Amino acid sequence: MPLEWLNKEQVAKLISLDMVQYTFGSTLTRLHGGINAQTGLQSHIDIPAIIGTKGKNHHFHKQLNDYVPPLNNPTLFRRDQNLCLYCGQVFEPKQLSRDHITPVSQGGKDVWENVVTACKRCNNHKADRTPLQSNMKLLAIPFAPNYAEYIYLQGKHIITDQMQFLMNYFPQKSPFRKCFV
Ligand SMILES: [Zn+2]
Repeated sequence: MPLEWLNKEQVAKLISLDMVQYTFGSTLTRLHGGINAQTGLQSHIDIPAIIGTKGKNHHFHKQLNDYVPPLNNPTLFRRDQNLCLYCGQVFEPKQLSRDHITPVSQGGKDVWENVVTACKRCNNHKADRTPLQSNMKLLAIPFAPNYAEYIYLQGKHIITDQMQFLMNYFPQKSPFRKCFV
C-alpha cells in the first residue's frame, strides 16, 4: 500500500536502519558518505523511487478503505486541476476559492462531495445560492479522494514508476488516471 512521501534523507535513514523490505522503480539519486579508511572507497546509498518497509498492520487495509482525507484548499484545487468548475478556466491558486455547492447557509456541509474549486468571480456571482438557484452549471461531480489519490495530490515531482504504483490503488473511475497516460 502507498503510505506517504519521504525525502531522500528519510529514505537513507530507513535503509541504514535495515527497515526496508524491498525497493521498486528507478534510482532517483545517490547520496555519498564518508571515505572508508581501509578501502579508500567512498560509501554511498542509492535512493529508489519506491520502498517497502518492514512491519505489518493487519487493520491497515480496512482503515484505508474508510479513510477520508482532510479537506484543505491546496488539495481541493489540485483535485480540480486549478480549474474553476463553473466557468471552466484555469487559474493561479491565489485566484481560486472553495465553493460550497449547497451553501453552508442552506445546510450544505464542508465535505469533499459538497465543495468545488471556483474562481473568485464565479463564487461571488453564485453567492449564497445553489447552482440551480443561480443558474450556474457544474462542470464535474465532486468526489472525496481515496488514500492513494490523496497521496498523489500531495506529490510534487511524481515520476512514472511512482505514478504507476499509485494508480494500482486508484478507483477504476478515478479522473487522475487520465492525467497520466
Ligand atoms: Zn469561474
